[in-house]
Amino acid sequence: MTDQYQTFAKSPIGKFVIKNLGLPSPIELDRFQVGQPVIQGAVLFGAAPNSRLTASISQVLSNIHADVYAGNNTALQQAAASVGLNVRAFNQGDTASKFKALVFDASGIENAEQLKALYDFFHPVARQIQTSGRVIVVGTSPETASSVAAAIAQRALEGFVKSVGKEFKKGIAAELVYVDQDAQDNIESTLRFLLSPRSAYVSGQVIRVSNATTIEVDWAQPLAGKTAVVTGASRGIGEAIAHVLARDGAHVICLDVPQQQADLERVANEIDGSVLTLDITANDAGEKIKAAAATQGGLDIIVHNAGVTRDKTLANMKPELWDLVININLAANERVNDYLLNNAGLNENGRIICVSSISGIAGNLGQTNYAVSKAGVIGLVKFTAPTLKNGITINAVAPGFIETQMTAAIPFAIREAGRRMNSMSQGGLPVDVAETIAYFASTASTGLNGNVVRVCGQSLLGA
Ligand code: NAD
Repeated sequence: MTDQYQTFAKSPIGKFVIKNLGLPSPIELDRFQVGQPVIQGAVLFGAAPNSRLTASISQVLSNIHADVYAGNNTALQQAAASVGLNVRAFNQGDTASKFKALVFDASGIENAEQLKALYDFFHPVARQIQTSGRVIVVGTSPETASSVAAAIAQRALEGFVKSVGKEFKKGIAAELVYVDQDAQDNIESTLRFLLSPRSAYVSGQVIRVSNATTIEVDWAQPLAGKTAVVTGASRGIGEAIAHVLARDGAHVICLDVPQQQADLERVANEIDGSVLTLDITANDAGEKIKAAAATQGGLDIIVHNAGVTRDKTLANMKPELWDLVININLAANERVNDYLLNNAGLNENGRIICVSSISGIAGNLGQTNYAVSKAGVIGLVKFTAPTLKNGITINAVAPGFIETQMTAAIPFAIREAGRRMNSMSQGGLPVDVAETIAYFASTASTGLNGNVVRVCGQSLLGA
């Protein structure tokens, strides 16, 4: 699907018109290419006094061979040295340097006054971030903070990150990572994802990392030896998910309805995967998925991507349109999960990843059925997460406006509004959703359970 406005905005005449009319000028976001380092460009690293995550963050920055700078901060320098991270000196007032990412350990902030550490670190360099850059604040999950004042201050970090995401423009994304008291060894997959262009269209998000067994992975092929089922894999977002999971090393079983057989086979052939034609609402869907994965060493990852819209205002909606949407988008996910979890259908460290929508967060005119189903998916993730065992996790992505056949069918004016009303001033690509799913799918992401991450360019809807 093409974004004609973005193409126009890049032309000489387009640049002139857009500048003079004050229209949004979307930049082309950096996207991950195989073989690239995690981050291309320097990282400015800072920490509030008494922060507890500085050594763990340093370890990740060292592992990814980042080019790291820091101001005059003895505690940070000691923490970095303790894990062998080489940190170059950055002098405040050096306005010539540009950074690809600003990373700040805010975990030591214990009260409202100490929030000033955010201002002190970010204010002097607020104009020194490159396009498609990153602002990452790492804090302590408020629920695990040491006092009420500390919990309040940590909760306050959300407002900072969400505002920065709206303010910095130029494709710069801002995120908050909450780390539970005992989860400092579980942050690597999250920091790698957020620092890299894999998270191009993810902004203004709060991700929570919990304590879990850490598992070594080959970061170039984090899904090597894994078997994944992707529902609705014949086109759109599902097709992109199948490609990205296969790129990361998984054997992908591509599932879709029989009518999509030809496209499904094409996708499976492209990635050396296999085909499972199945209506996900069938009573024996869980059984068939388990049987298909059994020939590949059992199932490690299931991505519930299949979904439909049947938009009508509530007054005009026929009951069968309500039933159809709830059944495919929500009830089938529940039935399949129940079958797999109750019948040893998911291997140890298995991953369940659901696809919600910002409609399920904000609601949408003409989408009562769809929004119910997608809000239900968020409930499914939230209430299933604490019940899981054996390193199995469940998380969801909530896409905003993604350029697919689904969004191409939206009437022009509504489509343009959906596309532009976000901090990136553009729609996302199916690959952006797929990269976020691959991050949850990674064996290294056992500390992520019960998260819902929006892939929406920080859409204003439901913000
Ligand atoms: P799409 O219509 O292009 O693809 C959906 C796929 O699901 C199709 O291949 C379809 O055949 C399959 N499918 C439908 N019913 C099925 C069933 N009963 N059993 C098996 N397969 C079935 O849609 P898309 O835009 O790629 O959306 C993928 C997911 O992302 C959906 O869950 C959708 O709700 C969600 N989503 C999309 C957007 C967007 O902007 N495109 C935004 C938010 C959420």
